[in-house]
Amino acid sequence: MWHPFTQMQEWEREDPLLIERGDGIYLYDIHGNKYLDGSSSIWVNLHGHRHRALDAAIQEQLGKIAHSTLLGAASPPSILLARELIKIAPKGLTRVFYSDNGATAVEVALKMAVQYWQQQSPPQKKKKSFIRLDAAYHGDTMGSMSVGGIARFHERFRPLLFSTIALDAPYCYRCPLDLRFPSCRTACLDPLEDVLSKRHERIAGVVIEPMVQAVAGMITQPPGYLSRVRALCLQYDVLLIADEVATGFGRTGTMFACNHERVTPDLLCVAKGLTGGYLPLAATLTTENIYEAFLGEPEKTFFHGHSYTGNALGCAAALANLEIFKKEKTLVHVRKRSGILKALLKPLAELPIVGDVRHCGMMAGIELVKNKETREPFPLSERMGHKIAADCRRRGLLIRPIGNIVVLVPPLAATELQLRKMSSILTKAVKSHARQIAMA
Ligand SMILES: *Cc1c(COP(=O)(O)O)cnc(C)c1O
Repeated sequence: MWHPFTQMQEWEREDPLLIERGDGIYLYDIHGNKYLDGSSSIWVNLHGHRHRALDAAIQEQLGKIAHSTLLGAASPPSILLARELIKIAPKGLTRVFYSDNGATAVEVALKMAVQYWQQQSPPQKKKKSFIRLDAAYHGDTMGSMSVGGIARFHERFRPLLFSTIALDAPYCYRCPLDLRFPSCRTACLDPLEDVLSKRHERIAGVVIEPMVQAVAGMITQPPGYLSRVRALCLQYDVLLIADEVATGFGRTGTMFACNHERVTPDLLCVAKGLTGGYLPLAATLTTENIYEAFLGEPEKTFFHGHSYTGNALGCAAALANLEIFKKEKTLVHVRKRSGILKALLKPLAELPIVGDVRHCGMMAGIELVKNKETREPFPLSERMGHKIAADCRRRGLLIRPIGNIVVLVPPLAATELQLRKMSSILTKAVKSHARQIAMA
């Protein structure tokens, strides 16, 4: 096997982790070691592993059919899920286009946006550029990489990608404009206004991860940021594409991150949590206005699809996932536990190697720094995040760091006690490294 985002030379040298089974928020390896799933199996798991209702929904669907195509045909689970998604989505989103993963959900949104402008009367063929944020991550296919901005992942492929307009990320801890929140009043968006006012006739859309830029290092956006982006897009007649692949389904404490600022994007991408972490399924939601631009002669068709689009097992799992939200009052619990998590992580900020602790709902990032005063980062070659994650693993917590950012993304179902266990392990690991560095 060749693992994703993994230096295989290192993998072959290190003690490999082989997960055999899961139960609730615990994972068990083939030797029977038990771990807390501190990354929600890379941000997908919500209600825990082997949840009865999810297991049962898939088994029930399996008794009917595993998959049938959505190309010119429909299926009950895909219809029912579309209806449920529209019910919970920000108001104004009325149409659901399925695909298989986060990257494809973003590809679909980009293609829909460009074709939408081509099919206006008169056609607006010049509107084909996208604005994106620095350090954005939208997936690993060509289109989603084009609107991405993680140098380490994307730069070598730049020759293959279409060009985009990049703006600074609202990275308050390392604010490029050296402004102070809240007195900055989201002045970091002035450059967006500037670009839109000059070039809106050539811009199809703004692509953004609302509230939290996750892969960038859990960069949380200041209040008012998202709603100002929405207002500017409306003012300059540019589509807003919200990538909620990471933030969707309760992850930030509301069903969608857009809910925090009462924003309805023109296109909304979801994947990761859609099936509760069970099966690969994604969706791009859009408005009636965009949907209607594709009605008419055959040439106006949206020519995009995948073999497994709207997979019945995935849709059945997603329906069960949304049902659990209602039955278990997941959002109420998440809001409460989000406050607990925040309080648990706060003491970390006092440690000499911790520069910033960022948090939103059930997502947290702890930024490690070499020098707290100057905010000088550790050189990536020191692999501080990796070392702390390895230490956490020995103590029974699985997390996956992003460079110097230690990332904790517990399943939404994690209880207060389980959150305490996670943060206690994490704090011990960071403290022990701080001590080692101080002594060196
Ligand atoms: C993970 C992620 C993606 C990519 O999703 P895949 O299912 O891995 O293709 C896209 N956007 C965001 C914000 C993500 O976190």
